[in-house]
Formats: sequence, structure tokens, C-alpha cells
Amino acid sequence: MHNRTNENNQSVTKRMFSRFMIFLAMLLLLISAGSTAVMAADGLEVHFLDVGQGDCTLIRQGDHAMLIDAGREEDKDTILNYLLNTEGITSLDYVVGTHPHEDHIGSLDSVIESLNVGEVLLPDVITTTRTFEQVLTAIDSKGLGITVPVPGTSYPLGDASFSVFAPVGDYGDDLNNWSIALKVTYGESDFLFTGDAEASAEQDIVSAGFDLSADVFQAGHHGSDTSNSNLMLDSVNPAFIVISCGSGNSYGHPNQEALDRFWNHGAKIFRTDAQGTIVASSDGTSISWSTEPSENWAPGGASFSVTTRTAGSSGNISYSGSDSSGTSGNDSYAGSDDSSGISGDDSPADNGQAASSEIQVHITETGSKYHSAGCQYLRSSDIIVTLDDAKARGLTPCSKCNPPQ
Ligand SMILES: [Zn+2]
Ligand SMILES: [Zn+2]
Repeated sequence: MHNRTNENNQSVTKRMFSRFMIFLAMLLLLISAGSTAVMAADGLEVHFLDVGQGDCTLIRQGDHAMLIDAGREEDKDTILNYLLNTEGITSLDYVVGTHPHEDHIGSLDSVIESLNVGEVLLPDVITTTRTFEQVLTAIDSKGLGITVPVPGTSYPLGDASFSVFAPVGDYGDDLNNWSIALKVTYGESDFLFTGDAEASAEQDIVSAGFDLSADVFQAGHHGSDTSNSNLMLDSVNPAFIVISCGSGNSYGHPNQEALDRFWNHGAKIFRTDAQGTIVASSDGTSISWSTEPSENWAPGGASFSVTTRTAGSSGNISYSGSDSSGTSGNDSYAGSDDSSGISGDDSPADNGQAASSEIQVHITETGSKYHSAGCQYLRSSDIIVTLDDAKARGLTPCSKCNPPQ
């Protein structure tokens, strides 16, 4: 009797202990799963960082991450703060320097020094700048090598992957055309990046026969007219185009001609100069965005702030040199022969006279008129285009707000 009770007690204790252990194990599992869920990206995330006039794109899938370009040297704190603090990332599976220009690899050395990096991908071209040297030193001091990706090669990134398409030729000293181009694929969602590849390199990429189709295209060369050829846009056929460029940049990026091609291809645009950092998320089927597409179709690079010209602005700004009725008169950017409006950057018309291709007017999504800023008819939609553009679309001046003609 006595013995049996003891045995029973022992087996009860054992049973309870093993139950406790199972409970403990499940608890640990839950905690670790929970903490993973906080840190990891659901689906695929593509972060187009606002680094002024430069490129820096973070891609996350689950516990995996990669960085395409790392802005200028002066963007170091912005980039490291975003990666380490905002996103809580300490490891990057891949770091890609599309080509060795300062606005792409400026902070690459800091990224390599500050995070755990798996592979560094660079094109097979060198340059003699201090920036490039610093990148090589950082790679060396971390005991890393350089991977020169061969076009056609695919790399895994968690449940996503990316395929390299370029560079496909020898471009001598033309660093832009040496840009690594790659497409990130997650389920049915594709994101294409071509660095600063110019139209001739775009032609080579298209000729190489890769499937370039993508939902999202990061505009080539910050939206430069010298990239983003119709041939390329036809091949990619993007629904969305993200333009990484700096507000008031001296290159006029994005250029009007490129914007016109984006418009004509029916793409929606996002632009970091006007909207800051932009994040796209894909669940493998559809893509959602951290902000609405931009309605600002005006070229960059002018001296005025782009953000004051977005929809809903109070609109006391006139872009014409006409009698500018209803405007404050202090903000006229065209038609005057002084430099009050244009702060000396290299706008296409360098004689102080604005060409009609630079005069900006406002249109709506469906209306047949074009307007001055702040016109009452711009309440539901307010899209900024050049006067030339408005005329090319067959729009006529609004009789209420007296826009430039
Ligand atoms: Zn660039
Ligand atoms: Zn470049």
C-alpha cells in the first residue's frame, strides 16, 4: 500500500514535470516566434530611402535583407539610423553598389563597417576616387570579397529572389552604364532596378533578352532624360515608377522628357524629392504603398520647393510672367529678366528667360482646362505639368484663374 502510493506520487510528479517542460517549451517557442514576427518583414518590403540626390533602397523578406546602393557620404547617419534603429536590422545578406559614383556608394563603407554583411556585389569596374577606395578598404577590413555578378544569375533572399541583368557590356569609363541592374521577385511581384544605366545600356539590357517586366521600376538615373527610354519602358511596362532624387537638385531630375514618357506609359509615380522615404509592400500578389502616388509631374531641379506645389496647397504661387492676377506676385518664376525666381542652378534656360517648356500649370484628372495654382477648380485633383504639356494634351486655359498662355 505504502509503496504504491509512493509510486503514484512519483509518477504524478513526473507527469506534472513533463507537462511543465512541454508548457515551458511552448512558451519559449511562442516568445521566439513573437520576437521574430516583430523584427521580420511580412511578405516583401522595398524601402526607397530619401537620401537627397542619390539612391539607397532596402529590401526585406522575413529575416533577410539586402541594400541596393548607399547614398552619398553625407547620408551616412540617415542610412545607418534607418537600418539600425528604424528597421532594427543588423545583418544584410547582400549589399549592392550598382556603380562606383558617390551618390550610390558614398556611405557603402559605413554600412559595411556597421552591419554584418554576407556578400558585396559590385560591377567589374574601378575608379580612383577616395570614396571608392574607402569602400574597398571597408570590404577588406571586414574580410569580405567582392562578387561580380554575371548577368542571368539569381540569388535567394528568403522567400524572394533577385536576378542580375546587367552590366552586359564593357563600357570603358562610362560608370553609369556599368550599373548593375537586377529584378527582385516575390510571388507575382517584380521590382526592377537599373542604377544610372543610360539609354544605350538600357538597349543592351533589352537586347540581352531577359524578362524585364516588372510592377515597379525605379526610374533610371534619378529620372534623367538620358535614361528611361521608351524601349526600356515598353520592356518593363511598370505600373509604378519610383524616382529617387533630391529636392532642388542641380540636374533637373526628374527631367520633363522622362516624366512625359512615364505619363504616356500610364505609370503612376512616386518621388522621394516630394514625398520622402517611400515603402512598397507585397504579399506576393498585390503591392501596397506607404503613401499615395505623387500628382506632382513637374520636373525637379528648379529653385522652388516641390512640396509647396502639391495638391491642396493654398496656391499663391504663379509660374508665369503674365499679369498673374490673384497671386501674391512675389513668387513668379518665369518671364522676368531678373534672377529672383531661379536661384542660379542649371535650369535648361540659362538666360533667365523661362522657356515655355518650363512654365508650369495645373490640371485635373479629367478636366479640359488648365489652371493657375490655387484655382477653385483644382479642389478634387491638382496635377502639375508644363504649359507645353497641357497644350499638347489639347487643354485650354481656364477663364477663371487666367493661367499663362
Ligand atoms: Zn546617380
Ligand atoms: Zn552615376
